[in-house]
Amino acid sequence: MSNIKFFSGEQIPLEMHKVRIVQKLNLQPVEKRLKAITEAGNNTFLLKNRDVFMDMLTDSGVNAMSDRQLGAMMVADDSYAGSETFFRLKEKITDIFGFEHFLPAHQGRACENIIAQTLVKPGNIIPMNYHFTTTRAHFVLNGGTVEELIIDEGLEVISNHPFKGNICADKLRHCIDKHGAENIPFVRMEAGTNLIGGQPFSLENLEEVQELCKENKILLVLDASLLADNLHFIKVREEQCRELSIREITKRISDLCDIIYFSGRKLGCARGGGICIRDEKIFAQMKEFVTLYEGFLTYGGMSVREIEAMTIGLEETMDEEVINQGPEFIAFMAEELQRGGVPVITPPGGLGCHINAMKFVSHIPQEQYPAGALAAAIYIAGGIRGMERGTLSEERNSDGSEHPADMELVRLALPRRVFTLSQVKYAADRIIWLYKNRHLIEGLTFVEEPRILRFFTGKLKPVSNWQEKLVSAFRDDFGDSL
Ligand SMILES: *Cc1c(COP(=O)(O)O)cnc(C)c1O
Repeated sequence: MSNIKFFSGEQIPLEMHKVRIVQKLNLQPVEKRLKAITEAGNNTFLLKNRDVFMDMLTDSGVNAMSDRQLGAMMVADDSYAGSETFFRLKEKITDIFGFEHFLPAHQGRACENIIAQTLVKPGNIIPMNYHFTTTRAHFVLNGGTVEELIIDEGLEVISNHPFKGNICADKLRHCIDKHGAENIPFVRMEAGTNLIGGQPFSLENLEEVQELCKENKILLVLDASLLADNLHFIKVREEQCRELSIREITKRISDLCDIIYFSGRKLGCARGGGICIRDEKIFAQMKEFVTLYEGFLTYGGMSVREIEAMTIGLEETMDEEVINQGPEFIAFMAEELQRGGVPVITPPGGLGCHINAMKFVSHIPQEQYPAGALAAAIYIAGGIRGMERGTLSEERNSDGSEHPADMELVRLALPRRVFTLSQVKYAADRIIWLYKNRHLIEGLTFVEEPRILRFFTGKLKPVSNWQEKLVSAFRDDFGDSL
């Protein structure tokens, strides 16, 4: 869609699909939105979808499916063992990634559990470009310590670095020297770094990492959950890859890796996950965990219908016109917001539009969860459900003190091919209004705080009656509008 010029000169991402199945949405009045977020403990995860107008919580399992995916779901082979459906997926994996061994799992974190139990031993160090919540939880649970070696630009909110997801090779070299290769079971690279704005790594960077891994006999593991966006960015931003097809870029990436795992809720736009493995011995060990935790080896906890959809979804990921839709909508939304003065992460990445809460509500201290407060305010302002990606998404230090996050972000995910451009404009409009009224927003404090992954189910309350004030301001400005 990037090639299509408008006569008017405007730059608008044009949808290269038509909509044939739709779902009706509700937009509740602002007073009801306040009630809903209060009942949800100011945690957008706990909102009921009936109260949500634009569900921008995540891209996980909510991307629009294609006609071909839905069609394939009707012809799935339902046998417990030896399902044809599974072999179709396995062949597609071999075709795209060139790996012989593939193990299915019910979703991304299940792959992480299996990888951690197989490879992470107490005292191990796991270097990575950046962590993901469930990844780190599994590695730590197995006695490992995560070291984040992202390039310095990766944590700069405003930047024009095209590959803010790159790992710093010098930091990696130093890490290996310091801890010794024998204490490092693998280096993990995450495509489209989830927690720092969906920022990609470059192929060149992955090549450098692989060199270092090879020299030191350390495995290279790729978390490919957000690979689709990363592929698009490599294609459009990396000089050496301009002329390569998405399929060729994918092959170059996978040739460098020893293990590739992914959440099929994102990569492949279905619901499931899987691990591609080269080494026979590791494959044999992991197999046992699949039968223990997931299911038999030819379904791994997935529904066969979802496996069929994933097979087609993976094939569709090789199509630049399919995978560019997300990043181009995200860039469009980021530009709209910037025009209204709203601080967003630049360059825009994949996955969603990321708002910089540290700056948006700079008056809220990190112990009062600025990004969590902003996510609640965005829901009140527009019925838009985003996700906190800041201090709330961190775990406390072992002494109980807060671990302030590097960044305080509200992520507004744009699940692929789900929203229309006018909906994106609506979201930007409400957020720009909120920005003009940002002085009204104050912090949150915990009422119920779970010990592990607290952001999923924890409940909070506002530190004052600021949310009522926000509702009055909305009424003053919008009259009886929803
Ligand atoms: C979503 C995600 C996971 C976990 O996948 P689930 O299917 O949600 O369990 C792991 N890594 C990354 C980078 C992700 O984005």
